[in-house]
Amino acid sequence: MKNSIKKMILLLIYFSSPLAVILLFYILNPSVLSQRPLRQLANILGLTAYIILIYEFVLTSRLKVIDRIFGMDRIILFHIIMSAIAIQLAVVHGLIMFYISETTIILIGSGINLLAQFIILMAVGAIFLHGSGKKIKKLDYNVAKTIHNLTIITTSFLFLHALGTNLNYPSPIILIIYTLFYLLALGSWLNLKVIRIRKVKNNPYEIIQVKNEAGSYWTLTLKPKNAEILDYSPGQYGYLSIKSQEVSKEFHPFSFASSPVKNDSISFTIKELGDYTNQIGTVKIGETAYIEGPYGIFNALKSKANHLVLIAGGSGITPFLSLLRYMKDTKNTRKVTLIWGVKFPYELFLNDEFEEMKRINPNLAIIPVISDDESWEGESGFIDREKLERLAPCVDPGKEIQKNDYYICGPPAMVKNVRPALKSLGVNKSKYLHTEKFYR
Ligand SMILES: Cc1cc2nc3c(=O)[nH]c(=O)nc-3n(C[C@H](O)[C@H](O)[C@H](O)COP(=O)(O)OP(=O)(O)OC[C@H]3O[C@@H](n4cnc5c(N)ncnc54)[C@H](O)[C@@H]3O)c2cc1C
Repeated sequence: MKNSIKKMILLLIYFSSPLAVILLFYILNPSVLSQRPLRQLANILGLTAYIILIYEFVLTSRLKVIDRIFGMDRIILFHIIMSAIAIQLAVVHGLIMFYISETTIILIGSGINLLAQFIILMAVGAIFLHGSGKKIKKLDYNVAKTIHNLTIITTSFLFLHALGTNLNYPSPIILIIYTLFYLLALGSWLNLKVIRIRKVKNNPYEIIQVKNEAGSYWTLTLKPKNAEILDYSPGQYGYLSIKSQEVSKEFHPFSFASSPVKNDSISFTIKELGDYTNQIGTVKIGETAYIEGPYGIFNALKSKANHLVLIAGGSGITPFLSLLRYMKDTKNTRKVTLIWGVKFPYELFLNDEFEEMKRINPNLAIIPVISDDESWEGESGFIDREKLERLAPCVDPGKEIQKNDYYICGPPAMVKNVRPALKSLGVNKSKYLHTEKFYR
Protein backbone atom coordinates (compact mmCIF):
# COMPACT_ATOMS: atom_id res chain seq x y z
CA MET A 1 0.00 0.00 0.00
CA LYS A 2 1.27 3.49 -0.87
CA ASN A 3 2.61 5.55 2.01
CA SER A 4 0.24 8.44 1.22
CA ILE A 5 -2.76 6.11 1.55
CA LYS A 6 -1.47 4.75 4.87
CA LYS A 7 -1.06 8.34 6.09
CA MET A 8 -4.62 9.17 5.10
CA ILE A 9 -6.05 6.10 6.84
CA LEU A 10 -4.20 6.81 10.09
CA LEU A 11 -5.18 10.49 10.08
CA LEU A 12 -8.78 9.52 9.37
CA ILE A 13 -8.79 7.13 12.35
CA TYR A 14 -7.18 9.79 14.54
CA PHE A 15 -9.60 12.59 13.71
CA SER A 16 -12.79 10.58 13.26
CA SER A 17 -12.61 8.61 16.52
CA PRO A 18 -13.69 11.49 18.81
CA LEU A 19 -16.59 12.10 16.43
CA ALA A 20 -17.52 8.39 16.42
CA VAL A 21 -17.48 8.22 20.24
CA ILE A 22 -19.56 11.42 20.50
CA LEU A 23 -22.16 9.96 18.11
CA LEU A 24 -22.24 6.72 20.06
CA PHE A 25 -22.58 8.67 23.29
CA TYR A 26 -25.66 10.43 21.93
CA ILE A 27 -27.15 7.24 20.45
CA LEU A 28 -26.72 5.31 23.70
CA ASN A 29 -27.80 8.16 25.93
CA PRO A 30 -30.56 10.07 24.08
CA SER A 31 -31.45 11.91 27.31
CA VAL A 32 -28.33 14.01 26.75
CA LEU A 33 -30.26 15.84 24.03
CA SER A 34 -32.47 17.41 26.68
CA GLN A 35 -29.47 18.92 28.51
CA ARG A 36 -28.82 22.64 28.03
CA PRO A 37 -26.68 23.33 24.93
CA LEU A 38 -23.76 24.65 26.97
CA ARG A 39 -23.65 21.44 28.98
CA GLN A 40 -23.70 19.42 25.76
CA LEU A 41 -20.86 21.51 24.39
CA ALA A 42 -18.89 20.81 27.57
CA ASN A 43 -19.51 17.06 27.11
CA ILE A 44 -18.26 17.15 23.54
CA LEU A 45 -15.16 19.18 24.39
CA GLY A 46 -14.28 16.96 27.35
CA LEU A 47 -14.72 13.78 25.37
CA THR A 48 -12.65 15.07 22.44
CA ALA A 49 -9.87 16.23 24.78
CA TYR A 50 -9.82 12.81 26.46
CA ILE A 51 -9.46 10.86 23.21
CA ILE A 52 -6.81 13.19 21.78
CA LEU A 53 -4.80 12.91 25.02
CA ILE A 54 -5.02 9.12 24.84
CA TYR A 55 -3.75 9.11 21.27
CA GLU A 56 -0.77 11.25 22.30
CA PHE A 57 0.56 8.28 24.27
CA VAL A 58 0.32 6.11 21.19
CA LEU A 59 2.04 8.75 19.05
CA THR A 60 4.95 9.18 21.44
CA SER A 61 5.48 5.50 22.15
CA ARG A 62 7.97 5.35 19.25
CA LEU A 63 6.02 2.75 17.34
CA LYS A 64 8.15 1.80 14.34
CA VAL A 65 5.11 1.30 12.16
CA ILE A 66 4.02 4.93 12.67
CA ASP A 67 7.62 6.18 12.38
CA ARG A 68 7.98 4.48 8.98
CA ILE A 69 4.86 6.21 7.69
CA PHE A 70 5.32 9.75 9.03
CA GLY A 71 8.87 10.05 10.42
CA MET A 72 9.41 10.72 14.13
CA ASP A 73 10.14 14.47 13.78
CA ARG A 74 6.75 15.08 12.18
CA ILE A 75 5.05 12.88 14.77
CA ILE A 76 6.61 14.83 17.64
CA LEU A 77 5.60 18.17 16.13
CA PHE A 78 2.05 16.92 15.54
CA HIS A 79 2.00 15.56 19.11
CA ILE A 80 3.06 18.92 20.60
CA ILE A 81 0.35 20.76 18.67
CA MET A 82 -2.39 18.22 19.39
CA SER A 83 -1.51 18.01 23.12
CA ALA A 84 -1.79 21.77 23.36
CA ILE A 85 -5.17 21.63 21.60
CA ALA A 86 -6.39 18.82 23.88
CA ILE A 87 -5.36 20.72 27.01
CA GLN A 88 -7.13 23.83 25.75
CA LEU A 89 -10.30 21.83 25.02
CA ALA A 90 -10.12 20.36 28.54
CA VAL A 91 -9.72 23.82 30.05
CA VAL A 92 -12.70 25.20 28.12
CA HIS A 93 -14.70 22.10 29.17
CA GLY A 94 -13.81 22.84 32.80
CA LEU A 95 -14.61 26.54 32.49
CA ILE A 96 -18.05 25.82 31.01
CA MET A 97 -18.81 23.32 33.77
CA PHE A 98 -17.73 25.91 36.31
CA TYR A 99 -19.85 28.58 34.61
CA ILE A 100 -22.95 26.44 34.62
CA SER A 101 -22.20 25.51 38.23
CA GLU A 102 -21.81 21.80 37.71
CA THR A 103 -18.28 21.64 39.05
CA THR A 104 -19.38 19.32 41.84
CA ILE A 105 -19.52 16.57 39.22
CA ILE A 106 -15.75 16.78 39.03
CA LEU A 107 -15.50 15.52 42.60
CA ILE A 108 -17.93 12.64 42.29
CA GLY A 109 -16.16 9.32 42.59
CA SER A 110 -12.72 10.86 42.33
CA GLY A 111 -11.87 12.84 45.42
CA ILE A 112 -9.44 15.60 46.24
CA ASN A 113 -6.65 14.14 44.11
CA LEU A 114 -8.67 14.71 41.00
CA LEU A 115 -9.31 18.28 42.01
CA ALA A 116 -5.56 18.81 42.44
CA GLN A 117 -4.89 17.24 39.06
CA PHE A 118 -7.63 19.29 37.53
CA ILE A 119 -6.15 22.51 38.92
CA ILE A 120 -2.74 21.54 37.50
CA LEU A 121 -4.34 20.82 34.17
CA MET A 122 -6.15 24.15 34.22
CA ALA A 123 -2.91 25.96 35.09
CA VAL A 124 -0.93 24.23 32.33
CA GLY A 125 -3.82 24.88 29.96
CA ALA A 126 -3.91 28.55 30.91
CA ILE A 127 -0.16 28.82 30.17
CA PHE A 128 -0.72 27.21 26.79
CA LEU A 129 -3.73 29.41 26.10
CA HIS A 130 -1.67 32.46 26.96
CA GLY A 131 1.29 31.49 24.79
CA SER A 132 1.43 31.29 21.04
CA GLY A 133 2.09 28.07 19.08
CA LYS A 134 5.72 29.12 18.71
CA LYS A 135 6.15 29.36 22.47
CA ILE A 136 4.83 25.83 22.84
CA LYS A 137 7.33 24.54 20.30
CA LYS A 138 10.15 26.36 22.09
CA LEU A 139 9.30 24.82 25.46
CA ASP A 140 12.54 23.54 27.05
CA TYR A 141 12.99 19.87 26.17
CA ASN A 142 13.27 18.68 29.77
CA VAL A 143 10.25 20.74 30.88
CA ALA A 144 8.26 19.27 27.99
CA LYS A 145 9.44 15.77 28.93
CA THR A 146 8.43 16.25 32.58
CA ILE A 147 4.99 17.53 31.55
CA HIS A 148 4.70 14.56 29.22
CA ASN A 149 5.57 12.05 31.95
CA LEU A 150 3.17 13.69 34.40
CA THR A 151 0.41 13.46 31.83
CA ILE A 152 0.02 9.72 32.45
CA ILE A 153 -1.01 10.55 36.04
CA THR A 154 -3.30 13.34 34.87
CA THR A 155 -4.80 11.03 32.24
CA SER A 156 -5.43 8.39 34.92
CA PHE A 157 -7.37 10.97 36.91
CA LEU A 158 -9.18 12.13 33.81
CA PHE A 159 -10.16 8.52 33.23
CA LEU A 160 -11.61 8.30 36.76
CA HIS A 161 -13.33 11.62 36.17
CA ALA A 162 -14.82 10.35 32.90
CA LEU A 163 -16.02 7.17 34.63
CA GLY A 164 -17.44 9.12 37.59
CA THR A 165 -19.36 11.59 35.46
CA ASN A 166 -20.76 8.91 33.17
CA LEU A 167 -22.04 6.55 35.86
CA ASN A 168 -25.39 8.37 35.76
CA TYR A 169 -26.03 7.39 32.16
CA PRO A 170 -27.92 4.13 31.53
CA SER A 171 -25.63 2.45 28.97
CA PRO A 172 -22.31 1.02 30.22
CA ILE A 173 -20.89 0.86 26.70
CA ILE A 174 -19.42 4.34 26.90
CA LEU A 175 -17.70 3.38 30.16
CA ILE A 176 -16.19 0.36 28.41
CA ILE A 177 -14.99 2.58 25.56
CA TYR A 178 -13.41 5.05 28.01
CA THR A 179 -11.69 2.13 29.73
CA LEU A 180 -10.39 0.68 26.45
CA PHE A 181 -8.98 4.07 25.44
CA TYR A 182 -7.35 4.45 28.85
CA LEU A 183 -5.80 0.98 28.56
CA LEU A 184 -4.47 1.98 25.14
CA ALA A 185 -2.70 4.98 26.69
CA LEU A 186 -1.38 2.99 29.64
CA GLY A 187 -0.24 0.14 27.39
CA SER A 188 1.60 2.52 25.04
CA TRP A 189 3.28 4.27 27.96
CA LEU A 190 4.32 1.01 29.67
CA ASN A 191 5.55 -0.39 26.35
CA LEU A 192 7.89 2.59 25.94
CA LYS A 193 9.02 3.00 29.53
CA VAL A 194 9.26 -0.62 30.65
CA ILE A 195 9.04 -3.30 27.95
CA ARG A 196 11.10 -1.56 25.26
CA ILE A 197 13.76 -0.34 27.70
CA ARG A 198 14.12 -3.84 29.15
CA LYS A 199 14.64 -5.21 25.63
CA VAL A 200 17.25 -2.53 24.90
CA LYS A 201 19.05 -3.28 28.17
CA ASN A 202 19.30 -6.94 27.20
CA ASN A 203 21.49 -5.94 24.29
CA PRO A 204 24.27 -3.78 25.78
CA TYR A 205 27.14 -2.22 23.86
CA GLU A 206 30.68 -1.47 24.96
CA ILE A 207 32.38 1.84 24.16
CA ILE A 208 35.53 0.86 22.27
CA GLN A 209 36.68 4.31 21.11
CA VAL A 210 36.16 7.93 22.13
CA LYS A 211 37.75 10.22 19.57
CA ASN A 212 37.89 13.99 19.41
CA GLU A 213 37.46 14.67 15.68
CA ALA A 214 37.93 18.44 15.85
CA GLY A 215 36.86 21.21 18.22
CA SER A 216 33.54 20.21 19.72
CA TYR A 217 33.01 17.07 17.58
CA TRP A 218 33.41 13.64 19.19
CA THR A 219 33.00 10.18 17.74
CA LEU A 220 31.95 7.29 19.97
CA THR A 221 32.40 3.79 18.62
CA LEU A 222 30.40 0.96 20.18
CA LYS A 223 30.56 -2.78 19.85
CA PRO A 224 27.76 -5.13 20.93
CA LYS A 225 28.60 -7.16 24.03
CA ASN A 226 26.31 -9.94 22.83
CA ALA A 227 26.41 -11.11 19.24
CA GLU A 228 23.55 -8.94 17.99
CA ILE A 229 24.29 -5.66 16.19
CA LEU A 230 21.44 -3.30 15.43
CA ASP A 231 20.11 -3.55 11.89
CA TYR A 232 19.89 0.01 10.55
CA SER A 233 19.99 1.88 7.24
CA PRO A 234 22.11 4.94 6.45
CA GLY A 235 20.18 8.06 7.51
CA GLN A 236 18.48 6.43 10.47
CA TYR A 237 19.06 7.27 14.10
CA GLY A 238 18.94 5.64 17.51
CA TYR A 239 18.43 6.80 21.09
CA LEU A 240 21.71 6.44 22.95
CA SER A 241 22.10 6.04 26.70
CA ILE A 242 25.51 5.70 28.34
CA LYS A 243 26.07 4.06 31.72
CA SER A 244 28.84 6.32 32.87
CA GLN A 245 29.98 8.04 36.06
CA GLU A 246 30.05 11.44 34.38
CA VAL A 247 27.20 11.39 31.88
CA SER A 248 23.48 11.28 32.57
CA LYS A 249 21.77 8.00 31.65
CA GLU A 250 18.96 9.70 29.72
CA PHE A 251 18.36 8.64 26.13
CA HIS A 252 19.31 11.19 23.42
CA PRO A 253 18.77 10.77 19.67
CA PHE A 254 21.83 10.55 17.39
CA SER A 255 22.13 9.55 13.74
CA PHE A 256 24.28 6.54 12.97
CA ALA A 257 27.51 7.81 11.42
CA SER A 258 28.89 4.39 10.55
CA SER A 259 28.15 2.25 7.54
CA PRO A 260 25.86 -0.68 8.29
CA VAL A 261 27.78 -3.03 6.00
CA LYS A 262 31.05 -4.81 6.73
CA ASN A 263 30.94 -3.45 10.22
CA ASP A 264 30.94 -5.07 13.63
CA SER A 265 30.63 -1.73 15.41
CA ILE A 266 28.41 1.36 15.37
CA SER A 267 29.61 4.94 15.58
CA PHE A 268 27.97 8.24 16.47
CA THR A 269 29.53 11.63 15.81
CA ILE A 270 28.30 14.10 18.40
CA LYS A 271 28.67 17.84 18.67
CA GLU A 272 28.93 19.48 22.09
CA LEU A 273 25.88 21.65 22.38
CA GLY A 274 24.37 21.55 25.85
CA ASP A 275 24.29 19.84 29.24
CA TYR A 276 24.39 16.31 27.90
CA THR A 277 26.55 16.55 24.79
CA ASN A 278 29.17 18.67 26.63
CA GLN A 279 29.92 15.56 28.71
CA ILE A 280 30.47 13.20 25.77
CA GLY A 281 34.26 13.68 25.83
CA THR A 282 34.36 12.31 29.39
CA VAL A 283 32.98 8.91 28.36
CA LYS A 284 35.52 6.15 29.04
CA ILE A 285 36.50 3.19 26.91
CA GLY A 286 34.94 0.02 28.34
CA GLU A 287 31.81 1.77 29.62
CA THR A 288 28.42 0.33 28.72
CA ALA A 289 25.90 1.96 26.38
CA TYR A 290 22.44 1.13 25.10
CA ILE A 291 20.86 1.95 21.77
CA GLU A 292 17.13 2.08 21.15
CA GLY A 293 16.13 2.08 17.53
CA PRO A 294 16.59 2.32 14.66
CA TYR A 295 14.18 5.11 13.75
CA GLY A 296 13.72 7.51 10.87
CA ILE A 297 12.90 7.55 7.19
CA PHE A 298 15.71 9.86 6.07
CA ASN A 299 17.22 7.34 3.70
CA ALA A 300 18.60 8.83 0.49
CA LEU A 301 19.44 5.36 -0.84
CA LYS A 302 15.76 4.89 -1.65
CA SER A 303 15.83 7.82 -4.07
CA LYS A 304 15.38 7.04 -7.75
CA ALA A 305 16.68 10.44 -8.91
CA ASN A 306 19.82 10.71 -11.07
CA HIS A 307 21.53 13.07 -8.66
CA LEU A 308 21.46 13.15 -4.86
CA VAL A 309 22.06 16.57 -3.35
CA LEU A 310 22.95 16.34 0.34
CA ILE A 311 22.92 19.58 2.33
CA ALA A 312 24.33 19.45 5.86
CA GLY A 313 24.66 22.06 8.58
CA GLY A 314 27.32 21.31 11.25
CA SER A 315 26.64 17.98 12.94
CA GLY A 316 23.90 17.42 10.33
CA ILE A 317 26.66 15.71 8.36
CA THR A 318 26.21 12.45 10.34
CA PRO A 319 23.38 10.75 8.39
CA PHE A 320 25.24 11.61 5.16
CA LEU A 321 28.47 10.19 6.58
CA SER A 322 26.72 6.89 7.09
CA LEU A 323 25.37 7.06 3.53
CA LEU A 324 28.74 7.97 1.94
CA ARG A 325 30.54 5.31 4.00
CA TYR A 326 27.95 2.77 2.90
CA MET A 327 28.39 3.85 -0.75
CA LYS A 328 32.16 3.50 -0.37
CA ASP A 329 31.80 0.02 1.14
CA THR A 330 29.44 -1.09 -1.63
CA LYS A 331 31.44 0.70 -4.40
CA ASN A 332 28.35 2.67 -5.38
CA THR A 333 29.29 5.35 -7.95
CA ARG A 334 26.04 7.25 -8.07
CA LYS A 335 26.13 11.01 -8.67
CA VAL A 336 26.17 12.79 -5.32
CA THR A 337 26.85 16.40 -4.32
CA LEU A 338 27.43 17.08 -0.64
CA ILE A 339 27.27 20.70 0.51
CA TRP A 340 28.48 20.96 4.11
CA GLY A 341 28.16 24.22 6.01
CA VAL A 342 30.34 24.72 9.11
CA LYS A 343 31.60 27.80 10.93
CA PHE A 344 35.38 27.29 10.73
CA PRO A 345 37.71 25.33 8.38
CA TYR A 346 39.09 23.20 11.25
CA GLU A 347 35.63 21.66 11.63
CA LEU A 348 36.05 19.90 8.27
CA PHE A 349 37.57 16.93 10.04
CA LEU A 350 36.88 14.31 7.40
CA ASN A 351 39.14 15.48 4.58
CA ASP A 352 41.20 12.29 4.20
CA GLU A 353 38.15 10.06 4.27
CA PHE A 354 36.37 12.30 1.76
CA GLU A 355 39.36 12.07 -0.61
CA GLU A 356 39.20 8.28 -0.39
CA MET A 357 35.45 8.35 -1.10
CA LYS A 358 35.98 10.59 -4.15
CA ARG A 359 38.68 8.25 -5.43
CA ILE A 360 36.22 5.34 -5.34
CA ASN A 361 33.31 7.43 -6.66
CA PRO A 362 34.41 10.01 -9.31
CA ASN A 363 30.78 11.24 -9.37
CA LEU A 364 30.99 12.49 -5.81
CA ALA A 365 31.46 16.23 -5.24
CA ILE A 366 32.04 17.61 -1.74
CA ILE A 367 31.67 21.34 -1.25
CA PRO A 368 32.42 22.86 2.16
CA VAL A 369 30.85 26.22 2.95
CA ILE A 370 32.51 28.20 5.76
CA SER A 371 30.47 30.87 7.50
CA ASP A 372 32.76 32.49 10.08
CA ASP A 373 36.25 32.75 8.55
CA GLU A 374 36.90 35.59 6.15
CA SER A 375 40.27 34.19 5.08
CA TRP A 376 38.61 31.07 3.61
CA GLU A 377 39.02 31.04 -0.14
CA GLY A 378 36.31 28.53 -1.03
CA GLU A 379 32.54 28.92 -0.66
CA SER A 380 31.78 31.18 2.26
CA GLY A 381 28.75 32.53 4.15
CA PHE A 382 25.53 30.58 4.63
CA ILE A 383 24.04 27.99 2.28
CA ASP A 384 21.57 30.22 0.45
CA ARG A 385 19.52 30.38 -2.75
CA GLU A 386 22.37 31.77 -4.86
CA LYS A 387 24.76 28.98 -3.82
CA LEU A 388 22.15 26.26 -4.29
CA GLU A 389 21.29 27.52 -7.76
CA ARG A 390 24.96 27.59 -8.73
CA LEU A 391 26.19 24.42 -7.01
CA ALA A 392 23.23 22.05 -7.34
CA PRO A 393 20.55 23.55 -9.59
CA CYS A 394 17.16 21.90 -9.87
CA VAL A 395 17.19 20.31 -13.34
CA ASP A 396 13.47 20.37 -14.11
CA PRO A 397 11.95 23.12 -11.95
CA GLY A 398 8.35 22.50 -10.99
CA LYS A 399 8.11 19.30 -13.04
CA GLU A 400 6.40 16.17 -11.76
CA ILE A 401 9.60 14.20 -12.37
CA GLN A 402 12.79 15.93 -11.32
CA LYS A 403 16.32 14.64 -11.70
CA ASN A 404 17.67 15.78 -8.34
CA ASP A 405 16.57 14.62 -4.91
CA TYR A 406 17.48 17.04 -2.08
CA TYR A 407 18.22 15.90 1.48
CA ILE A 408 18.72 18.54 4.17
CA CYS A 409 19.95 17.87 7.70
CA GLY A 410 21.00 20.21 10.46
CA PRO A 411 19.78 22.67 13.05
CA PRO A 412 16.27 24.13 12.49
CA ALA A 413 17.55 27.61 11.57
CA MET A 414 19.55 26.19 8.66
CA VAL A 415 16.71 23.91 7.52
CA LYS A 416 14.35 26.89 7.75
CA ASN A 417 16.50 28.88 5.30
CA VAL A 418 17.40 26.13 2.86
CA ARG A 419 13.92 24.66 2.36
CA PRO A 420 12.26 27.84 1.03
CA ALA A 421 15.37 28.62 -1.06
CA LEU A 422 15.04 25.24 -2.80
CA LYS A 423 11.30 25.66 -3.15
CA SER A 424 11.81 29.02 -4.83
CA LEU A 425 14.17 27.28 -7.28
CA GLY A 426 11.33 25.02 -8.36
CA VAL A 427 12.06 21.93 -6.26
CA ASN A 428 8.82 20.04 -5.67
CA LYS A 429 8.77 20.15 -1.88
CA SER A 430 6.53 17.17 -1.22
CA LYS A 431 8.44 14.79 -3.48
CA TYR A 432 12.05 15.88 -3.82
CA LEU A 433 12.79 17.73 -0.61
CA HIS A 434 13.55 15.62 2.45
CA THR A 435 14.55 17.00 5.83
CA GLU A 436 15.79 15.85 9.20
CA LYS A 437 15.86 18.49 11.93
CA PHE A 438 18.27 17.75 14.76
CA TYR A 439 16.61 19.80 17.48
CA ARG A 440 12.91 20.32 17.95
C1 LIG B 1 16.76 12.61 14.76
C2 LIG B 1 17.92 13.31 15.44
C3 LIG B 1 19.21 12.94 15.13
C4 LIG B 1 20.28 13.59 15.74
N1 LIG B 1 21.56 13.23 15.40
C5 LIG B 1 22.61 13.90 15.94
C6 LIG B 1 23.96 13.55 15.59
O1 LIG B 1 24.22 12.62 14.83
N2 LIG B 1 24.96 14.28 16.15
C7 LIG B 1 24.70 15.33 17.02
O2 LIG B 1 25.66 15.94 17.48
N3 LIG B 1 23.45 15.65 17.38
C8 LIG B 1 22.40 14.97 16.86
N4 LIG B 1 21.12 15.30 17.23
C9 LIG B 1 20.93 16.37 18.21
C10 LIG B 1 21.13 15.84 19.63
O3 LIG B 1 20.15 14.87 19.94
C11 LIG B 1 20.98 17.00 20.61
O4 LIG B 1 21.99 17.92 20.31
C12 LIG B 1 21.18 16.59 22.02
O5 LIG B 1 20.19 15.69 22.43
C13 LIG B 1 21.13 17.87 22.85
O6 LIG B 1 21.25 17.57 24.22
P1 LIG B 1 22.01 18.57 25.22
O7 LIG B 1 21.52 18.31 26.59
O8 LIG B 1 23.48 18.47 25.01
O9 LIG B 1 21.63 20.00 24.72
P2 LIG B 1 20.44 21.01 25.19
O10 LIG B 1 21.02 22.35 25.06
O11 LIG B 1 19.96 20.62 26.54
O12 LIG B 1 19.39 20.70 24.12
C14 LIG B 1 19.42 21.29 22.84
C15 LIG B 1 18.18 20.84 22.09
O13 LIG B 1 18.27 19.43 21.83
C16 LIG B 1 17.02 18.80 22.02
N5 LIG B 1 17.14 17.76 23.07
C17 LIG B 1 17.68 17.89 24.30
N6 LIG B 1 17.63 16.72 24.95
C18 LIG B 1 17.02 15.84 24.12
C19 LIG B 1 16.67 14.46 24.22
N7 LIG B 1 16.92 13.73 25.30
N8 LIG B 1 16.03 13.89 23.17
C20 LIG B 1 15.73 14.63 22.08
N9 LIG B 1 16.07 15.92 21.91
C21 LIG B 1 16.70 16.51 22.91
C22 LIG B 1 16.04 19.87 22.39
O14 LIG B 1 15.35 20.28 21.25
C23 LIG B 1 16.88 21.01 22.88
O15 LIG B 1 16.28 22.23 22.65
C24 LIG B 1 20.04 14.63 16.65
C25 LIG B 1 18.73 14.99 16.99
C26 LIG B 1 17.68 14.33 16.39
C27 LIG B 1 16.28 14.73 16.77
